[in-house]
Amino acid sequence: MSKFWSPEVHQLTPYVPGEQPRQRLIKLNTNENPYPPAPGVADTLRDFDASALRLYPDPESRALRTAIAEHYAVTPEQVFVGNGSDEVLALAFMAFFRQPLPLYMPEISYSFYPVYCQLYGVERKALPLDHEWKVDLEAFPTNNGGVIFANPNAPTGHAHPREAIAGLLERQRDSVVLVDEAYVDFGAQSAVPLIERYPNLLVCGTFSKSRSLAGLRLGFAIGSKELIEGIGRVKNSFNSYPIDRLAEACAIASLADQAYFERSTAAVIATREWSREALTARGFDVLPSSSNFLFARPTRIDGPALFESLRERGLLVRHFSSPALAPFLRITIGTDEEMRTLVEAIDEIQA
Ligand code: PMP
Repeated sequence: MSKFWSPEVHQLTPYVPGEQPRQRLIKLNTNENPYPPAPGVADTLRDFDASALRLYPDPESRALRTAIAEHYAVTPEQVFVGNGSDEVLALAFMAFFRQPLPLYMPEISYSFYPVYCQLYGVERKALPLDHEWKVDLEAFPTNNGGVIFANPNAPTGHAHPREAIAGLLERQRDSVVLVDEAYVDFGAQSAVPLIERYPNLLVCGTFSKSRSLAGLRLGFAIGSKELIEGIGRVKNSFNSYPIDRLAEACAIASLADQAYFERSTAAVIATREWSREALTARGFDVLPSSSNFLFARPTRIDGPALFESLRERGLLVRHFSSPALAPFLRITIGTDEEMRTLVEAIDEIQA
């Protein structure tokens, strides 16, 4: 508390990110990629001309937006880039969701959305997941100030197919539908091809997960020119140079290596699948996942107790304290070796 803070700041409950440990732990708690970024990123860093940092970056980030547009078969005018998708989401909240009607979202979803609602004075209505822990697309009412959900959802990992999202968009014509695709590259279908049909669809993506560039802070949004212009208006009043020169060069290098991208995401998916079987064999209820994490409920031991025992053994996973999520652990997919160590630790703990 401080007499210098505005009343809004007193009300804020900031988002608490997963712990970034100082000691050497096997870190399976914030959905980072266990593999390095594409080799071209290291080459770019090595060859980067430091004297270029003297100059401001391109305020329009044209080179990166063009590279993203080519990757997704859209035009650069349909692409927005920012410092991590967290920033892109914040700008989208400011541009689209401060409406007289509430913003609808799943009750269990990315925990930053409620933080942004508080921060930007957006009224929020949260809807329960269905009985299979899936986002209930049928439940969103039509009269709203916007809809936001993650696909795959976090922390559950389930993804709806593109056609199901098209079904939602058929019903939602009058407000912005934001689909957060932070984890889409680990086996889900992107909604990007739908932007041609639905000018109210905004898809957000990130370089933090499938492209192993969480340390760079690079996110993007793809949507109709109309929506991209809307976010651009907010950006220009907020930070006129969103992407730094180094990040832009590295992101372009990452996009250039499609073969590496496919190999490394396939490796994560393969590890996820055997890890899911291994946990199921050890009595866990594990939700099917199209992401780079598993949401799993141990049945032979309490979730919080298992979290602590794993931590004592140097393995950090994510535990959420809210009553609905407390029995579960969210486990980021690491390398095969890291996941074998996890499974062995679980065997020891449950013995
Ligand atoms: N959306 C979801 C669903 C996430 O889990 C995350 C990562 N915590 C983000 C967006 C933000 O990712 P970044 O800011 O690293 O792009």
